[in-house]
Amino acid sequence: MISLNQLHKSYRSGTNSLHVLKGIDLEVEAGEMVSIMGSSGSGKSTLLNILGILDNYDAGVYRLDGHAVNGFGETRAAGLRNQYIGFVFQSFNLISFKNAMENVALPLYYRKIGRRKRNIMAMELLERLGLADWATHLPGELSGGQKQRIAIARALIARPKVILADEPTGALDSQTSFEMMDLLREINSTGITMLIVTHENDIAARTDRIIRLHDGVILNGHDPSLHTLESPADIPATIRPN
Ligand code: ADP
Ligand code: MG
Repeated sequence: MISLNQLHKSYRSGTNSLHVLKGIDLEVEAGEMVSIMGSSGSGKSTLLNILGILDNYDAGVYRLDGHAVNGFGETRAAGLRNQYIGFVFQSFNLISFKNAMENVALPLYYRKIGRRKRNIMAMELLERLGLADWATHLPGELSGGQKQRIAIARALIARPKVILADEPTGALDSQTSFEMMDLLREINSTGITMLIVTHENDIAARTDRIIRLHDGVILNGHDPSLHTLESPADIPATIRPN
């Protein structure tokens, strides 16, 4: 589903240049649930933003379900993003003056779906996720876990094939974090490919595979047979929750 070959990304300001991604090779199959780990500042968010076609890259090849992704900002890139990607953020990024249902419905607005239809679709999804009781609440009236569930519903409403989550449990206590991972696993089991950035080992251990970003490269991104060597998911007690 996702294929990166020798991907490079630098940030430039004035005469300074910061080379963050130094030749990333990565393959993620459709239906996989993987985590991306790495120390703070190692480029995890940079990588996820590129994968989500929210940012561009300097060199290399990015293929999303076989489509070459280049020329960030083009209509085609936006089309690919809309068709394939749902994003979940650490800080939820809900619109504070819109209620839960309206937040979930928002991506449909950009698809030019009318308000009535949007709200019906959002309510259906909220009901399916057991969130209907919160539909008319503003984000400020919800707990962190509830807000993240609403944000996940918003990511799902346009039926993405890939969910990219940047430290989705970073602002949650551990009990709520594990419940969140259960929900993400449930969503993954419907066939949606999932990439989760985290710096928490016990969160990463709940995914199928751990990708480690270090010094701008992934050491084991390409050959799946190598992953098992250091994947905590191999520890029986920490395998997927029911
Ligand atoms: P992580 O998510 O792993 O903590 P980031 O991808 O956010 O890391 O950042 C990687 C490096 O790039 C950091 O040194 C950060 O300061 C720098 N960086 C991130 N975004 C920008 C930007 N828009 N402009 C300049 N430097 C940036
Ligand atoms: Mg980050």
